[in-house]
Amino acid sequence: MRSIVPIACLLAAAVVFPAAPAAAAGRTAEPAAAVPSWSTGSTGSTAAFAASTAGRAPYCARVKCIALTFDDGPGRYTARSLDILRAHRAKATFFLVGRQVEKYPALARRMVREGHVVGDHTATHPRLTALSDTQIRAQLRDAQDVITRATGRTPDLMRPPYGDTDARVASVAAEFGLSQILWNGSSRDWELRDTRAITRKVTGLARRDGVILMHDVWPETVAAMPAILRNLKKRGYHLVPVTALLRDRPLGAGETYPPRR
Ligand SMILES: [Zn+2]
Repeated sequence: MRSIVPIACLLAAAVVFPAAPAAAAGRTAEPAAAVPSWSTGSTGSTAAFAASTAGRAPYCARVKCIALTFDDGPGRYTARSLDILRAHRAKATFFLVGRQVEKYPALARRMVREGHVVGDHTATHPRLTALSDTQIRAQLRDAQDVITRATGRTPDLMRPPYGDTDARVASVAAEFGLSQILWNGSSRDWELRDTRAITRKVTGLARRDGVILMHDVWPETVAAMPAILRNLKKRGYHLVPVTALLRDRPLGAGETYPPRR
């Protein structure tokens, strides 16, 4: 059964999001203070983060940030990916499938404990636009419940499987206080399945405030992570949860980020 989720992700290739404009070009500076805590795992943390930096520009306005996002776990390679992130002092966002959290609740807990942000990637990874409102509700609620039980924290971010969403999905998501997180750079790791190719792809996609789609359910992706993180850090990127890119503007329920255009 566990192969269903990654295989289903092949179809994500069909969804293409245009690039966001490059943010104010180039200059990187070290943060004036210690890296802020954004470990509460929700857009609520964005508000807390904004408050913690009151009077100063938000962290990602001052430094060059990028958000790596990992979908479809937790899985058998997730512990390794968490080890690698920890070794590189990098934070990420994990969009979790409820069925996988039931199998690996301790890994979901560890993500939150180590300062990563966790989001809802539905209970069983269906195409949401093909479902009735009632079915969408069940998918989002069941994943939210299992993540809450595992981590003690209720997600307020969701990523629709395959990026497949519309106004109706957004409106149902809003009922649960969920904002939608898409991406503006796809690793296409599910079709590359090659460590060096994935490394090249992700380092080539990198740009300031980028949201990169990856999957820690593939061993090649996890094997690529050390080289990716070394490369990005050498280029001055701060690896942050996606919530940090929002700076001081929390997302509203049902709102989508990065915005589609
Ligand atoms: Zn997925």
